[in-house]
Amino acid sequence: QDGTPKKITYEMLTAARSVASEMDCEVAVVAFGDGLDEEALAQDLGARGAERILVLDSADFAAYNVEPWAAALRQLVEEEEPELVLLGMTPVGRDLAPRLAAKLNAGLASDITGLRVEDGELLITRPMYSGQVIATLRVKSTPVLATVRPNTWAPAQAEGGAAEVETFEADDVPEARTEVLAVEAQGGDRPDLSDAATVISAGRGIKGPENFHLVEELADVLGAAVGTTRAVVDAGWRPYEEQVGQTGKTVSPNLYIAVGVSGALQHLSGMRTSKTIVAINKDPDAPIFRLADYGIVGDLFEVVPAMTEALKEME
Ligand code: FAD
Repeated sequence: QDGTPKKITYEMLTAARSVASEMDCEVAVVAFGDGLDEEALAQDLGARGAERILVLDSADFAAYNVEPWAAALRQLVEEEEPELVLLGMTPVGRDLAPRLAAKLNAGLASDITGLRVEDGELLITRPMYSGQVIATLRVKSTPVLATVRPNTWAPAQAEGGAAEVETFEADDVPEARTEVLAVEAQGGDRPDLSDAATVISAGRGIKGPENFHLVEELADVLGAAVGTTRAVVDAGWRPYEEQVGQTGKTVSPNLYIAVGVSGALQHLSGMRTSKTIVAINKDPDAPIFRLADYGIVGDLFEVVPAMTEALKEME
């Protein structure tokens, strides 16, 4: 994005490297953009374990647009013949991966959380039925396409080394039927909900939009993104972009704090794979406590300001 890899790219590097040697594969990164700094990309991604960077640099790729991107990626995959193609389970990846899979007539595993090689075969795991079961898949086509759930693999750290950069000339890109006129960022200074390391979600227990400042203040101290439940979005208290759950965003942060959230199955399916879950609810029987690692039974209007104060003192 804007010429720099997002965190999910580093996470996918870890995922790819975990199976590359057993699959007898090298690890390459495909970079789309217009006027990319190839040297910076080679150093950054090379140090994190990429062996090659395939650069698609053109005015067509300045902003994300599914038609030219999918056409170029198809050509690249057909020429390079990778075994496995990973895309982030991000708005771009969710849009691009199925179209690419259809063009290549290849199988696609979406929202994956595990990769391993067993008896020379690549096995993929992914949550199904709102995270109630974990399925193991074997994709029979080549290449295997998969979208990777953010915050599942640790981002690859810089350990030294530089990647080779190759420019890929996509000459089979049809003219796009849509044009991106502008891309506007939303959400101010807070991290993006989908890949934030810490998420604080407030549910209907917060009583009204005027009380959201309580969770926003806590989020600011922790550098967290703010999420919410569908009940809150349906009530018009918060925008849909903040909804976590089956019909909202899937998040998998290191720390998820649920404030005044009952823990309905449809909410849990969007945050179940969070590493540590803290729930604050005045009802000791709220279902969220069955999933939470830490539970605080109490009135959020007392607990949340107290947490914010305590954390400020620790700074
Ligand atoms: P409630 O269930 O009303 O819970 C509020 C909680 O706040 C209660 O547990 C209460 O004890 C607690 N509370 C109240 N006052 C306080 C206080 N002062 N201090 C502390 N705690 C307090 N929901 C989603 O979130 N995401 C989805 O994507 C989603 N998709 C859905 C899809 C379908 C097809 C359907 C049918 C439903 C979906 N839902 C989704 C809705 C879901 O079933 C629940 O209705 C919703 O998650 C409940 O939101 P809530 O926890 O904010 O509200």
